[in-house]
Amino acid sequence: MLLGSVLVLNATYEPIHVCRVRRAVTLLMKGVAVCEEYTGHVLTSPSTSIQCPDVIRLKRFVRIPLRQKSFSRTQVFVRDEYVCQYCGKTFGSAELTLDHVLPRSRNGKSSWENVVTSCKKCNERKADRSPEEAGMFPLRKPRAPAYPHYYFHVRGSSGHRESWRKYFYI
Ligand SMILES: [Zn+2]
Repeated sequence: MLLGSVLVLNATYEPIHVCRVRRAVTLLMKGVAVCEEYTGHVLTSPSTSIQCPDVIRLKRFVRIPLRQKSFSRTQVFVRDEYVCQYCGKTFGSAELTLDHVLPRSRNGKSSWENVVTSCKKCNERKADRSPEEAGMFPLRKPRAPAYPHYYFHVRGSSGHRESWRKYFYI
């Protein structure tokens, strides 16, 4: 869990970074950012006390180079939140596989739009069939995450808070 971390949004509400509380408070004090969410805790120092920020947003738009992270197994698991897209159960990465919604044998591509997280059992059951033939459809229509690198850094490696969730599903 990211205790003491603050989600930083661009002026356009897109998540761009995670920083320490101290840094977030500095940005707020300088008037560079505004607070979007508070944690409910109060930070006190000898001279002042302020609400602890949970999510802040930069006032000015910062252009972020969209380094499109290459499509990978882990990133697909992260996007699907480690939930098998067929049975809806959560698994560890050892139990998970990638399933081509339209099988490779039918020219299904290895892309964000055609690959979903599937447990081994469901993958075996679906086998080389299309969703229609198998009667198995992904829970969520697969698509490329809007900000793949932040997806990975913010959500994948460090976990995320419930209060941050909505900013990843705009
Ligand atoms: Zn499954």
